[in-house]
Amino acid sequence: MWVYRLKGTPSELDPILPELFDHGARGLWEREGEVLAYFPAPLPLPFGGVWEELADEDWMKAWRRDLRPVLAPPFVVLAPWHAFAEEGIPLRIEPGMAFGTGHHETTRLALTALARHLRPGERVLDLGTGSGILAIAAEKLGGRAVGVDLDPSVLPQAEANALRNGVRPLFLEGSLEAARPFGPFHLLVANLFAELHVRLAPAYREALLPGGRLLLTGILQEKAPGVREALEGAGFSPLEERAEGEWVLLAYRR
Ligand code: SAM
Repeated sequence: MWVYRLKGTPSELDPILPELFDHGARGLWEREGEVLAYFPAPLPLPFGGVWEELADEDWMKAWRRDLRPVLAPPFVVLAPWHAFAEEGIPLRIEPGMAFGTGHHETTRLALTALARHLRPGERVLDLGTGSGILAIAAEKLGGRAVGVDLDPSVLPQAEANALRNGVRPLFLEGSLEAARPFGPFHLLVANLFAELHVRLAPAYREALLPGGRLLLTGILQEKAPGVREALEGAGFSPLEERAEGEWVLLAYRR
């Protein structure tokens, strides 16, 4: 296993993180002033980082030792081997290949927003479920969640994470059309990216009940105006906005 060590500020590093995954990173570890990206082999990358080789066993040990629980009130996101120590609703998520370990700002923004906007018994669509974390959190709050993802490889991980948490969201391969038979929904949460939210704004409206709530993240601050405009154009009214670092969550009502 190889580690690619990249130094910078969060605003310099954050936009690079998805690209590291696109280049085949198996995992990322963000810490003060740097990101460590784990790859099976070194490869030419244009970001100015340095490569270090790790024995497989060292990598696994270091990864497990250094991974910390994540607070996203009222949730605390734990790896399966963490002892439960913190206050909060535990979410046990295996940090695997699927996005959604709680270590990214956007996942935390979505988790805390779910707790503010979801009422027990409501139907929730988690669009782009990844590790299943948001669907699992929605079920923990008393919702009935459907999680969909275009990438079929994440679904077994989402299922396994749900089992770890004693909840049973429905996970399906696909996107909004796969979820349609189970809607319309009271709440739709999507951690994707700004341009996709803009394209999907009219379809979000179709997926929601009148009065339904839309929680959108994966949006960089500078791209938020375009998303607001698309949502207001599709007939949504603003509810709230939250930010963490460079990232924004927009909440709207249909
Ligand atoms: N929901 C998790 C979270 O908040 O941490 C994972 C979010 S991850 C940034 C985005 C996920 O959306 C990926 O698993 C990706 O495969 C999936 N995805 C991307 N475009 C999609 C689309 N149009 N419909 C459904 N899933 C999509």
